[in-house]
Amino acid sequence: MADPKGFMTTPRQDWPRRPVEERVGDWDEVYVPGALLPIVSKQADRCMDCGIPFCHDACPLGNLIPEWNDLVSREDWRAAADRLHATNNFPEFTGRLCPAPCEAGCVLAINQPAVTIKNVECAIADRAWEEGFAQPRPPDRLSGRTVAVIGSGPTGLAAAQQLTRAGHTVAVFEKDDRVGGLMRYGIPEFKMEKRHLERRIEQMRAEGTRFRTSTAVGRDIGAAELRSRYDAVVIATGATAWRELPVPGRELAGIQQAMEYLPLANRVCEGDLEASPMSAAGKHVVIVGGGDTGADCLGTAVREGAASVTQLDIYAQPGAERDEDVEPWPTYPKIYRLSAAHEEARDLETAPAADADARLFAASTLRFTGDADGHVRSLHLTEVDAGRRPLPGTGRELPADLVLLALGFSGPDREDGLIDQLGIGMEPRGTITRDAGFATNAPGVFAAGDAARGQSLIVWAIAEGRAVAAAVDHYLTGSSRLPAPISPYDRPMTV
Ligand SMILES: Cc1cc2nc3c(=O)[nH]c(=O)nc-3n(C[C@H](O)[C@H](O)[C@H](O)COP(=O)(O)OP(=O)(O)OC[C@H]3O[C@@H](n4cnc5c(N)ncnc54)[C@H](O)[C@@H]3O)c2cc1C
Ligand code: SF4
Repeated sequence: MADPKGFMTTPRQDWPRRPVEERVGDWDEVYVPGALLPIVSKQADRCMDCGIPFCHDACPLGNLIPEWNDLVSREDWRAAADRLHATNNFPEFTGRLCPAPCEAGCVLAINQPAVTIKNVECAIADRAWEEGFAQPRPPDRLSGRTVAVIGSGPTGLAAAQQLTRAGHTVAVFEKDDRVGGLMRYGIPEFKMEKRHLERRIEQMRAEGTRFRTSTAVGRDIGAAELRSRYDAVVIATGATAWRELPVPGRELAGIQQAMEYLPLANRVCEGDLEASPMSAAGKHVVIVGGGDTGADCLGTAVREGAASVTQLDIYAQPGAERDEDVEPWPTYPKIYRLSAAHEEARDLETAPAADADARLFAASTLRFTGDADGHVRSLHLTEVDAGRRPLPGTGRELPADLVLLALGFSGPDREDGLIDQLGIGMEPRGTITRDAGFATNAPGVFAAGDAARGQSLIVWAIAEGRAVAAAVDHYLTGSSRLPAPISPYDRPMTV
């Protein structure tokens, strides 16, 4: 570390966000362009270069955080980019999108604000692109082995890049018209501009990875046929089977799943549509579900010009500090967090009657009522206790012209027939069964990412992609030098 007293002399400073009024008028990323670089080296100086760096353990990728903090504090960007890319294929994605379990585990966070690890990661990644350090790395020799990767989310992309660089001939099959999975049509532009995705895909193409978009395996091409044409297959199809809300009035028009709504807004940003046919403009919007998907709906509805937006969370409002008895350091705690979308909702007062920002906590939806045309107009809710039992006398009615259900996902979507055609075994909870080597019961077929782990995070998806690549490489060649940062059974750190 360049400054051994940095953590005592320099306060934490995050990458500033643009003013709310400005940023809700466009779809660009919320951060002030160019404002990170001038502050980031001093921030990296706050790292204590711990003997046992818990930041590193808390990251599923095993990112070499103290090493690149030191390199950034010395402004050695090339070496920092090398160390970062040694463990993470796509740090510009995680640098923008990761909830940063590393920061929750940072030793400094025991009694001070953590090192801004995520900001440092993003600065290195962006600098690597600007300075030309992220050149394509095609393999020296081809192995003569072929791999089909099904799904082009972060899992499929990481697996494909690792296997291509190891010399295998890799084709990625994607049922959507563009590559990227949930990073393309789920996550909004204001969280990550898609140009970052395009740049990586170009790098992968230059390395030799092939992409076949608009091709649903199981429907457009038989899964068994694909298996017979390739030496190995990786299923990385995500977990997009959404959960339902079976309450009276669910059938009314205007009640949509979040993943029906968000892709349309993303298509407007891509230039495919003039306006979203589900736009929130002028509507009273209620989002059911307190997670990140709900927050993405919130930021989107605000930008579309909703008349009001409220987000319902069934859990009680968490405290500002971690509960040391339940979720002690270095675990990732459930605390009150103000995402960029929540900050916008708070400042614009999109839901004046909410508990905090736009959120109503401990709120459970009882039913919907509609107008004579069968369109939703109201959502009826009650407050609940910690056991989700309704509290008498707490019933409320919210105006609702557009209701967005963001209740999570149960496992991979099976409609394409891929899983059934290959006879893949499934877990009772709806995810794909695999062994300790990521292999399914179908010979030569592997499974990784949300499809097998269940809905998770991009950092876990990249770790899954890297680990399944090592397993496939071993299957094809008898050994592998590819890194495997996680096993299929690893889970986030808990007590
Ligand atoms: C709205 C939303 C916001 C999120 N925000 C964040 C965030 O900010 N930070 C974070 O860390 N995580 C976030 N997540 C979670 C994260 O996006 C996922 O954990 C991650 O994308 C999973 O990666 P994956 O590659 O396993 O699956 P996916 O990203 O779901 O990709 C799977 C791909 O497989 C394709 N596919 C499916 N079936 C077939 C088939 N039969 N043939 C061909 N292709 C097929 C799909 O079209 C899709 O492109 C968010 C999730 C959602 C829904
Ligand atoms: S735990 Fe925090 S202070 Fe320690 S090495 Fe990691 S980033 Fe630096």
